[in-house]
Amino acid sequence: MPEPSNKENYVVGVDLGGTKILAGVFDGSLECVGSTKVSTKAQRGLDNVISRIERCVRDAVDEADLSIKQVAGVGIGAPGAVDFGTGTVMFAPNLEGWKDVPLKKDLEKQLGVPVFVENDGNIAVLGVHVVELKSKPRSVVGIFVGTGIGGGLISQGELFSGFNHTAGEIGHMVIDVNGPKCGCGNRGCFEALASRTAIFQRIKAGVKDGEKTLLTEMLGDGLEDLRSGDLRKAIRRGDKFVSKVIEQAAEYIGIGVANLVNILGPDVVVLGGGVMEALADEMTAIILKTAKDHAMPGTMKNVEIMVSKLGDSAGITGAAVLARREAK
Ligand SMILES: [Zn+2]
Repeated sequence: MPEPSNKENYVVGVDLGGTKILAGVFDGSLECVGSTKVSTKAQRGLDNVISRIERCVRDAVDEADLSIKQVAGVGIGAPGAVDFGTGTVMFAPNLEGWKDVPLKKDLEKQLGVPVFVENDGNIAVLGVHVVELKSKPRSVVGIFVGTGIGGGLISQGELFSGFNHTAGEIGHMVIDVNGPKCGCGNRGCFEALASRTAIFQRIKAGVKDGEKTLLTEMLGDGLEDLRSGDLRKAIRRGDKFVSKVIEQAAEYIGIGVANLVNILGPDVVVLGGGVMEALADEMTAIILKTAKDHAMPGTMKNVEIMVSKLGDSAGITGAAVLARREAK
């Protein structure tokens, strides 16, 4: 085994999601050298989630054959509004009971390592921009479709976080004022229409209304263990109902892209997150077509719309980039 390098060479990136927590240890060249995943179990309460994050970090460090003392810093992407200065999660619509949570302070106490907290969408777009796009494009919009829809903006080559550090909450742009209720309290937000949660709700409601789908054959009538990958399997086996639901979600994402391109005129729009990773082949063409149909003429010219190859690792990668920048 090689001699462990000095501690400045290792950082840990954490992606705290509504469903699962991922942690990855990254070396000096931002290669992932060990990672772990645990479920979030947000319903067990705040303290439980924080100790699960701690355990996930420690396990990832152990996976990499390192000790926590060799880690210079931990970056965390959290699914909500974050006060970056204090590392407080002010509000997280997909984590029940999370309001003004001093995540940085709590985890620093438990881990004994500097911790830096950012919004998860900001973190993911940072990871894609720095590692996948080699920091080349000047302006990037990231749309990450998972439990919710995270967003992040790169402007002038840097993360753009706005006046209150809350910019880029594209999951909560309102697309249908009469649409379904969102975790943020509003109605018809982008994520209430096109996130995995929204897709699953539509499928479960359809099954209750008697829609025929292969999913009930695969998973039973309750569809308790439904995952994005099951949707792909069902579509590939010719499931018309699931195809229709996914088409509709892709159209909403296309409308989201059109709005963002109209407003921001980015060089690149990055699509990512678990849903895109599982269903890119099924969704990308529809997203592109809908975006072109709804954007102002001329605004989409030469704008690159791409699916991130980092997949589910975009969050931990970006969190590692943040930790590397901040941990001095
Ligand atoms: Zn919302």
